[in-house]
Amino acid sequence: MHLDEMLDYNKKFVERKEYEPYRTDSIPNKRMVVFTCMESRLVELLPRALNIHNGDVKMLKNAGAIIRKPFDSIMKSILVAIYELKAEEVVVIGHHDCGMSHVDTEKLTETMKEKGVADKTLETINHSGIDLHEEFHGFETVEDSVRQSVSIIRNHQLLPETIKVHGLVIDPATGKVDVVTRQD
Ligand SMILES: [Zn+2]
Repeated sequence: MHLDEMLDYNKKFVERKEYEPYRTDSIPNKRMVVFTCMESRLVELLPRALNIHNGDVKMLKNAGAIIRKPFDSIMKSILVAIYELKAEEVVVIGHHDCGMSHVDTEKLTETMKEKGVADKTLETINHSGIDLHEEFHGFETVEDSVRQSVSIIRNHQLLPETIKVHGLVIDPATGKVDVVTRQD
């Protein structure tokens, strides 16, 4: 398992005090929240492409950088970052070639069944008012999706007026960023 490799590595990391260059406090130096996709190609590329270092920003991620409801966990985290951790700017960063741009929810449900999720479980979920298509369907174009997430943040009842909210799209091959929407 990769976990064992990680745990072995971690012991050495701590013993060698390799954490020292990363020491900082929990207030983001750039007073910024970055909300992006969980895409593995962006793990190192995104911070490097935008010159983000340890301690600089609050980094939030989910599948697709999608916010669709005003009180989902990402939105709550953004509010905590603003009210508790002094963030003043929020940047939503979608990316080209995102897995969430073509989620076939019927196929997804089939895969769930193949992996052992019972029909009855899916029925129960459906009956409790959760629409799996609605929850997992993703988006058509990344720009529209970023605009939608930005709009939910900008229009949130609990967002202070002084907070700037921007939307970007990054290319996971080159790190090139394009601005979709910005507030000055
Ligand atoms: Zn993605």
